[in-house]
Amino acid sequence: MSASSNPATLNTPPEGKPLVTPRQLTLACVVLLALAWGFLPEFTVSVLSNIGLYALVAAGLVMLTGVGGMTSFGQAAFVGMGAYATAWICTSPTAAAWLGGAVGPALLPWAGLLLGLAFTFALAWMLGAVTLKLSGHYLPLCTIAWGLSLYYLLGNMDFLGGQTGITGVPPLVVAGLSLATPRALGVVIWAVLLLALWALHNLLDSREGRAIRALKGGRLMAESMGVDTARHRIKLFVLAALLAAVSGWLYAHLQRFVNPTPFNLNIGIELLFMAVVGGAGHLWGAVLGAALITLLKEKLQDVLPSLLGSSGNFEVIVFGLLMLFVLQRFSDGLWPTLARITRRWVRNDAARKAPALASKAPTVQLAQRTLPASGELLLQASDVSKRFGGLVANNAISMTLKAGEIHALIGPNGAGKSTFFNMISGVDDPTSGEVKLAGQPMAAKPSRAFAALGLGRTFQHVRLLGQRSVAENVALGAHLRAKRGWLAAMLRLDRAEEAALMAEARRQIERCGLGAHADTPAASLSLGQQRVVEIARALAGQPSVLLLDEPAAGLRHLEKRALSVLLSQLRAEGLGILVVEHDMEFVMNLADRITVLEFGTVIATGTPAEVQANPRVLEAYLGGADDELLEDAR
Ligand code: ADP
Ligand code: MG
Repeated sequence: MSASSNPATLNTPPEGKPLVTPRQLTLACVVLLALAWGFLPEFTVSVLSNIGLYALVAAGLVMLTGVGGMTSFGQAAFVGMGAYATAWICTSPTAAAWLGGAVGPALLPWAGLLLGLAFTFALAWMLGAVTLKLSGHYLPLCTIAWGLSLYYLLGNMDFLGGQTGITGVPPLVVAGLSLATPRALGVVIWAVLLLALWALHNLLDSREGRAIRALKGGRLMAESMGVDTARHRIKLFVLAALLAAVSGWLYAHLQRFVNPTPFNLNIGIELLFMAVVGGAGHLWGAVLGAALITLLKEKLQDVLPSLLGSSGNFEVIVFGLLMLFVLQRFSDGLWPTLARITRRWVRNDAARKAPALASKAPTVQLAQRTLPASGELLLQASDVSKRFGGLVANNAISMTLKAGEIHALIGPNGAGKSTFFNMISGVDDPTSGEVKLAGQPMAAKPSRAFAALGLGRTFQHVRLLGQRSVAENVALGAHLRAKRGWLAAMLRLDRAEEAALMAEARRQIERCGLGAHADTPAASLSLGQQRVVEIARALAGQPSVLLLDEPAAGLRHLEKRALSVLLSQLRAEGLGILVVEHDMEFVMNLADRITVLEFGTVIATGTPAEVQANPRVLEAYLGGADDELLEDAR
């Protein structure tokens, strides 16, 4: 085996200075393609145009599936909507009558684009609102269902030409120039594709992009950071559908006719395949996947029938096998592998860019919360009960948290601590009883409403975006303190705010003692450090209440000491901190008050000294025998 094929050597950064940055390489490729465009053979231009059209849809799927974690087999149907909308408006006498001659022939395709986008927007929003609530396998199944129904609908509507479709679609006319050939329209296709990739790349590199990435890990974490996950999922779904519709619009004016065949479920699967093979979470993977599959399909359609001696869609079978292989060997798609192989020449400048942004002095201020005065009541649970069927996990628990105190919740395993945490953070609703945060009753409110009122939290099982840097993870915690939306992010109008967010993230990381790791992917930190990242992330939201679920678990002795110091400092600054923790030494030395749970019921509450002297507590922990509880605290 040669050294270069050894994965270990591929993983270590090569010596020497890489030759180009990804940006330079992209520019070079684009310039090269532009220069060569006029001289490429007709056939190549046509294939490249098709690749561009597919890549546009696949890029939407990368966002939806690879980044957002939602699978859609039905994108081809949205392509069809874009294509049919423009074909119909450009050719139908009814459409002409509707428009009443107000739109000249050269403008008809643009009216078609608007119609296609409007229709797709409305339909995708509706479908999204219905199907995106479904979890697990139901969402992919639903996308198959509506992919199929839309296809049959297109084929059965007389005014859309049935199975024959619509012919005589005019070419696009731009500035008096008729783009009738693939060579002319291909330029537009690739320009649109590159523009879309730029905008999507910008979106991912923003506040909203972090929220989108957080969707993949499930609702709990994202909602706790203040992200409206349902809304983000729908918006992402609509965005992917709109990209597909634009591709369909271009397709119709490239082919100059439409029929239902290119929009059936097969193509929907192929499109998903492109996104996944290319690189699930990487935008350029969409182009790679589209190119590979398109070229492979060309070849297979040529070779397979002659090889097998009969004609048929054999490429579908080969695709299936290929997909199995790729998913087995390259679960993240081929793009990361390609990036790794070319690392010797191409410098990944992600790590370099982030500090550059942070070093600019922020010119905008993030939203600030006025923190309550010390001693003020922050959180109040009154008679909170939670039943799971017959099991009473929380039994009429009452407790309070004030500004400037550390309140510890302890109890044996299964006592109901995590359940109670869920009750007071909006993850779950109490069966009975009331939770008040900052004086407001919180019944039936989602956890993002708790976040908005100043509740920050960490999780017993760490929930971070492992592949993203520590700084990005922490910046997600400040989500609610900024407001720039998707469009601003796509157009890069959010840079001032983004700089402020990253500066705030770095400030919190410094404060928590992880300054050296700000640009490291979160997953490469130790578990203890990851817990601290979660605390920094919570702090970035400028909370007045901090809920920590076992923050000291997995920390080394010195790290625990540092955490103690940090929490004491936060208490001095006026935060109210509620902590669930098993480490008794840690708890006893830190907490002002302790509440002890057993079987869902509060059995003791008071200062550490009072609790340690309470016979019921000793009973609960040790069955009354010689006590580790006291030993630990000494
Ligand atoms: P702790 O965090 O103190 O270890 P938990 O709050 O996780 O305890 O659990 C308290 C009790 O409630 C346990 O008996 C547990 O099995 C039960 N429980 C927790 N969550 C659920 C649930 N979603 N469904 C049913 N039972 C649950
Ligand atoms: Mg627990």
